[in-house]
Amino acid sequence: MELLDGKKISNQIKEEITETVAKMKERGEKVPHLAAIIVGNDGASLTYVGSKVRSCERIGFESTLVQMPSTTSELELLKKIDELNKNEAVDGFIVQLPLPEQIDTQKVIMAIDPDKDVDGFHPTNFGKMALDMSTFIPATPFGILELLERYKVDTKGKHTVVIGRSHIVGRPMSILMGRRGWPGNSTVTLTHSHTKNITQIISQADIVISALGVPNFLKAEMVKDDAVVIDVGITRVPDESRPKGYYITGDVDFENVSKKASYITPVPGGVGPMTIAMLLKNTLLARERHRAKS
Ligand code: NAP
Repeated sequence: MELLDGKKISNQIKEEITETVAKMKERGEKVPHLAAIIVGNDGASLTYVGSKVRSCERIGFESTLVQMPSTTSELELLKKIDELNKNEAVDGFIVQLPLPEQIDTQKVIMAIDPDKDVDGFHPTNFGKMALDMSTFIPATPFGILELLERYKVDTKGKHTVVIGRSHIVGRPMSILMGRRGWPGNSTVTLTHSHTKNITQIISQADIVISALGVPNFLKAEMVKDDAVVIDVGITRVPDESRPKGYYITGDVDFENVSKKASYITPVPGGVGPMTIAMLLKNTLLARERHRAKS
C-alpha cells in the first residue's frame, strides 16, 4: 500500500507557486490576489476560510477576507459580489459555503464573474469543464486529479466508482474521471443515496472516490484487493477528550481498508490540503489570464 500524501504534495505545489510568485515580484508584476467572503460564524467554515487566507500570505499572494454577519440579506451579498467583480485588484474570489438559509446559493454562484470564479462553481466554468475546455476546475476534484497524476496512478480503462453526487465534489469528479486523457479514461459509476446494490457496485471498483460524509462508511470487505481509495469525507466527531472537543474523520475505515488498497488517502492529510493548494493554483491561473487580457 502506498499513501497518497496530500500534505506532502500540497506543500510541493505551494513551494512551486511561491517560486512563481517570487519571480513575478522580481519582474515588478502584480502578484495574485484572492478574496474570500464568509457569511456567518460556522466554526468549520471559519477554519477553512482562515487557512485559505493564511496560505495566501505564506506563498506571497495578496488576500482579502470579507466577513459578513449571519443576518446578511441576499441583496447585500450580491452587492458585495458585484464590488469584487469590478475590483481590478482582485484576481479571483470565493464565497465560502454553506450560506445561511435566507440566501439562494445558486443565485450567488451565478453572480460571480466566471473569470474570477476560482472555485469553478459557475455554470460557465462547470460547462467548460464538462466540454474539456480550459477552465477553473473545482479545487477538491482538481486536487484529486493532481494526486493521481503525481503518484502516477493508472486510470485508463479502470472502473471508477464515485460515492456522492454533490456539485462541488462527486458530480465534477465523475465527469473528470471519464474525460479523455490522464487522469481520466475511466469507466465511471456515479452513486448516491438512491443507488441500489451499492456494496456490490463498490466491490467492482478499481478506484473508489468516497464523498458522502459518513464516517466509517467504506469498510474493508466492500473494496477489492489493490483498489485505489480516495477519501474526500471530512466529519467532525464530538470527543471531549480532545483539546478541540472533536476529531476529524473521513468516510473510510482507514485502518482496515489500507491493508487491502494499493493506494489510499489519509484523513486528515489527504484530499483536504490538496483542496487549498489547488485553489491557490486556480488563483495564479486567474492572475495570468487577467495579465494576458490587459
Ligand atoms: P454533500 O452535499 O454533503 O452530499 C453527500 C452526497 O452523498 C449526496 O450526493 C448523497 O446522496 C450521498 N450519500 C449520502 N449518504 C449516502 C449513502 N448512504 N450511500 C450513498 N450515497 C450517499 O456532499 P459534499 O459536499 O461533496 O461533501 C461530502 C463530504 O466531503 C463531507 O464530509 C464534506 O465535509 C467533505 N468535503 C471535503 C472536502 C475536502 O477538501 N476534503 C471538500 C468538500 C467536501 P443524495 O444526492 O441522494 O442525497
